[in-house]
Order: sequence, then structure tokens, then C-alpha cells
Amino acid sequence: MESGAAGGTTAGNRAAAFQERKAPQGAGGILMKKGLLIVVSSPSGGGKGTILKALFARNENLRLSVSATTRAPREGEQDGVHYHFITKEQFRQNIADGAMLEYAEYCENYYGTPKAPIQAWLEAGHDVVLEIEVQGGRQIKAAAPDCVSLFILPPSLEVLEKRLRGRGTETEAVIEKRLRAAEEEIRCVKDYDYAVVNDTVEQAVSEIESILTAEKLRVSREENIAERILNHA
Ligand code: ADP
Ligand code: 5GP
Repeated sequence: MESGAAGGTTAGNRAAAFQERKAPQGAGGILMKKGLLIVVSSPSGGGKGTILKALFARNENLRLSVSATTRAPREGEQDGVHYHFITKEQFRQNIADGAMLEYAEYCENYYGTPKAPIQAWLEAGHDVVLEIEVQGGRQIKAAAPDCVSLFILPPSLEVLEKRLRGRGTETEAVIEKRLRAAEEEIRCVKDYDYAVVNDTVEQAVSEIESILTAEKLRVSREENIAERILNHA
């Protein structure tokens, strides 16, 4: 198993499931929009966790997908909060049950996005963030082309290594694997909609907010905007 769509589910019908979602009709809110599906990737140590924490602190409408993984919890990580920590056997069963929106193998562990909460949040008008690696990012873009994909880049490989080591959460062997994976991952930035360089957290967060604001204003995301303006008494 490397990476792929949930068992028995094609990219096409996952895409259809996303396209069915409707813009919520709030009280008097004729211009309310459906939620954005946002993919955020970076090499390990690129700053996804740090940046998203700051972004979430400032944006109440965001929801973070809690992934399933077969890796062991780090100190302080809680099951159901940071990840659903499950066995490889359970992971394979989830795939067979069609319960994963995407999944991938990364540095000898499996990671995947449980399907159930995502569509409910989008239908409720929330913007949903998937913090996932590049194989998963590719699967989501293929299944839901109107998602917004962001790649967070370190200012340099040297800074990446320093930050990853400075985090102090991995063994030397794991750090080396992740740094080797990083070079190839960084080349995948070409498949993403936006590149954000993580120089300072504050600047990266503010750039992401600008991207999301602009994405929400895309005419293609507004069904019948002219009619709704013209017919609003
Ligand atoms: P990821 O979630 O992508 O693996 P983290 O958010 O855990 O990365 O960041 C890796 C390490 O780098 C953490 O120790 C974090 O505090 C630090 N870090 C992240 N962004 C910055 C930044 N802009 N400046 C300095 N340190 C940073
Ligand atoms: P970590 O072990 O550092 O928490 O995560 C390792 C990598 O797996 C990171 O790049 C992270 O974004 C990615 N990841 C986390 N959850 C998922 C997921 O559900 N699907 C995929 N494809 N990657 C994930």
C-alpha cells in the first residue's frame, strides 16, 4: 500500500460528492458562501503546525481535519485531538470501508483523512483545513479541483534542518529520513496553487489570510451572484 483513494471509491465520485454541496442560506445572508476546502502541505519542520495554530487562533470559521495515523504519539499528543492513533490493521480496514478521503504512506507510517466530518463542515459553511503531505495533496486536488492548495516552504534547507532538530520530537534516524524526503517534497510545490515562505510566522499567517480572502471572492465560487444582487429587494 502506498497511497490512493479509499477502497471502491473513484476520484470522480468523490469529486461529485464535493460538488453537491450547497451554499448555506443564513438569516438575511444572501451572500453567504459554502466553505473552502484548504490543503496545507510542507516538508516536516516546514512550520505547518505552528502557522496553522496562529491562523486558527484568529479565524473562528476554520475547522481542522483530524487525521488517522499509524505512527506512535509524540509526547503531549492526544488521541482524537492531534491524530486518531490507530494500528495498521485498523487503517487498512478504514480504507476497505471507504472511510478515507485520501491516504498515503510517509516515512514508513500511514496517514489519512477520515471522510465523515469534512463534508458536514463544508455544508455548514466552515472552511476546512487538511494538513497533509504531498501524495495526499495530489489526491485531494484530483478529487476536488476547487480546493485551495498551499505549500509552506522553509526559507532554506539549512533553516529547515535547524527547525526540525530544534523541535526535538524525533530521533536522529527519523530526522534524517524526513530531511531526505524534504528535497523531493519541496519540488512538489509546482503542483500547488500558492507558495508561502515561512520566514516569520506572522507574515506567513497574514499571507494565508490574504489568499483565503481572495479565494472566497472568486466569481466561480458564487452561484448566481448577479441574480442574487439584482433580485434582493
Ligand atoms: P511542521 O508542523 O510543518 O512539521 P512545526 O510547526 O512543528 O512544523 O515547526 C517546526 C519547528 O520550527 C518548531 O519547533 C517551530 O516552533 C519552529 N518554527 C516554525 N516556524 C518558525 C518560524 N517562522 N521561525 C522560527 N521557528 C519556527
Ligand atoms: P507528522 O508525523 O510530523 O505528524 O506528519 C508527517 C507528515 O504526514 C506531515 O507532512 C503531515 O502533514 C502528513 N499528514 C498528516 N496527516 C495526514 C493525512 O491525513 N494524510 C496525508 N496524506 N498526510 C498527512
